[in-house]
Amino acid sequence: MKAVLLREHGGTEVLEYTDVETPQPGPGEVLVDLKAAALNRLDIWVRDGWPGIKLEYPHILGADGAGLVAELGAEVSGVQSGDRVAINPDLWCGRCVYCAAGQDNLCDSWRLLGESARGTYAQYLVVPERNLLPLPDTVGFETAAAASLVYLTAWHSLITRGKLRAGDRVLVVGAGGGVNSACIQIAHLAGAQVYVVGSDAAKLEQAESLGADELIDRSKEDWSKAIFKLTRRRGVDVVVDNVGAETFFHSIRAARKGGRILTVGNTSGPKFELDNRYLFGKHLTIIGSSMGPHTDFLTVMGLVFEDKLTPVIDSTFPLAEARAAQRKLESDDFFGKIVLLP
Ligand code: ZN
Repeated sequence: MKAVLLREHGGTEVLEYTDVETPQPGPGEVLVDLKAAALNRLDIWVRDGWPGIKLEYPHILGADGAGLVAELGAEVSGVQSGDRVAINPDLWCGRCVYCAAGQDNLCDSWRLLGESARGTYAQYLVVPERNLLPLPDTVGFETAAAASLVYLTAWHSLITRGKLRAGDRVLVVGAGGGVNSACIQIAHLAGAQVYVVGSDAAKLEQAESLGADELIDRSKEDWSKAIFKLTRRRGVDVVVDNVGAETFFHSIRAARKGGRILTVGNTSGPKFELDNRYLFGKHLTIIGSSMGPHTDFLTVMGLVFEDKLTPVIDSTFPLAEARAAQRKLESDDFFGKIVLLP
């Protein structure tokens, strides 16, 4: 099969589109003929590498994928060759204490496609049967691939962990990325009042089309002050901050007393100072999470299949042009998801 291989860390030049042996499904596993694979910022972090990361080379990036069932391993009974499927990118053991409690994203031997296992920048992928979800004929492969990681992450953070309710005021810091776009849509669907801070007018306009109610252009005003004004000095119930170092202090200021701050990542850097007086003085709760359990995957993908949540697809590239696709992701000049077509 063709795949994009990674043999060392580095820039986009280390991505190599080439032939590699097609993997074979073991017991309980399925070979999927991938029709779409979506990019995530995670792909760039894995490609660049971080202290302590250990990849089994040649590595294949990519968490998100959708396609057709191509071959069944032994003991597979729930799917048939030719079935259209979406893929949950989380890998879990099904036996540990966390898995037994339905918290499979906390699994003792948790892995993620494209990070700690070979991923979806390829024509074929082997995954456990339990990771597959039947994909209705009405939903495109690109849509399913674009939705998987970001909607699972956003749903688990906002709804399961953040307990967002109708009427809550929620501030999403940042408008362009996949998780934040998903957060805006999910918060709107949940009946929240959605405030969005964006870097320019074009991104804010797109955020509005996804359901944002109040737009704040951070190139024009101090956004935590703007939130203070818009909420009559009260602050918001929930802040979604996946930016990190550049914004976290402002997010703490923008939260109301007793508010909660949700984070699933940090696009501007992971380390920053916290003024503890704000935490206890304002009775704040900081809630971190990563990905989500399979039950959340089923729930949120069901909403995608019903067209209640619709991932925005910025652009598509042939698999052979993975370098160009990643350069686009690194440029920040996009809105929504970038998708590869294997
Ligand atoms: Zn487990």
